[in-house]
Amino acid sequence: MRPFQLSPIHQIHFLRAGYCTHREWVTIRGGTFRSVRFPAGFACIEHPTMGLILFDTGYSERFLIETSSYPASLYRYLTPVYFSEADRALTQLQRIGYEAQDVALIIISHFHGDHIAGLRDFPRAQFMYAAEAYEQVRNLQGLAAVRAGYLPNLLPDDFEERSIAITFNPSFAVPSSSSMTMSALSKGSTPASSFWPMHAALPPESPFTSGIDLLGDGSMIAVDLPGHAEGQIGLLVSTNQQDYFLCADAAWSSKAIRFNLPPHPLAGLIMSNRQGYRATFNKLIQLYQRFPSLQIVPSHCTEVPK
Ligand SMILES: [Zn+2]
Repeated sequence: MRPFQLSPIHQIHFLRAGYCTHREWVTIRGGTFRSVRFPAGFACIEHPTMGLILFDTGYSERFLIETSSYPASLYRYLTPVYFSEADRALTQLQRIGYEAQDVALIIISHFHGDHIAGLRDFPRAQFMYAAEAYEQVRNLQGLAAVRAGYLPNLLPDDFEERSIAITFNPSFAVPSSSSMTMSALSKGSTPASSFWPMHAALPPESPFTSGIDLLGDGSMIAVDLPGHAEGQIGLLVSTNQQDYFLCADAAWSSKAIRFNLPPHPLAGLIMSNRQGYRATFNKLIQLYQRFPSLQIVPSHCTEVPK
């Protein structure tokens, strides 16, 4: 049974661009005092009509440069980062036969540095994300930015011109200074208003009640995952064989979802909203229990999805 009934993509590659380390006890209830690895996962989707689509990008060399001096060095002090050229998202795509220009779209789950550090490597890509997520960080600089896990220089100079923002909140006003339209994706002929945002109903048993059909073809459904970061989104996507839910940082491991092990309250320090995080985490647990065939993929899990 395929409860989500998405139109299938060709293939999805789960990749990692570097990793950081954390004390395990902070990240999962019952964890040890050991430092454990948190791979910076991203996904590469081969879409039947759009071409190549990424969900996040992981770390990059630029992340190391941007965090080499104070105050951004605090970021790396808190989460020591391990990254080499071979880990770079673009290098890994080249290894499976693609080039930077092949990436048509990058879906940004949220604006933490370990998710956006590779954006500058893809000059032709458009960007989709929740307007609330960008609004939360777009004017932050210096220490305030670092506290939000955001490094402004990771965004390409023409980021806003290449952006398409979505929103789950009908009363959220998209700032007029941002250029946010659907026109490029709708190939110029479809009026933006008839295309964006297109709400997608999810199965009635789903704890997440609706999503946004990002391309209007039923293949990529964005789901609102508030709490870890304002405006964080996940992505429902299916191949012919398997349904996936890329849940970004709504949970840090598959084990946390399987055994209902939320992070230590101390991890709440980096959450934009602790109660929101817990509510979203609980919904993920329900999703896992009600749809056992759905593969839920956290960005930073060490388990390799099937
Ligand atoms: Zn994050």
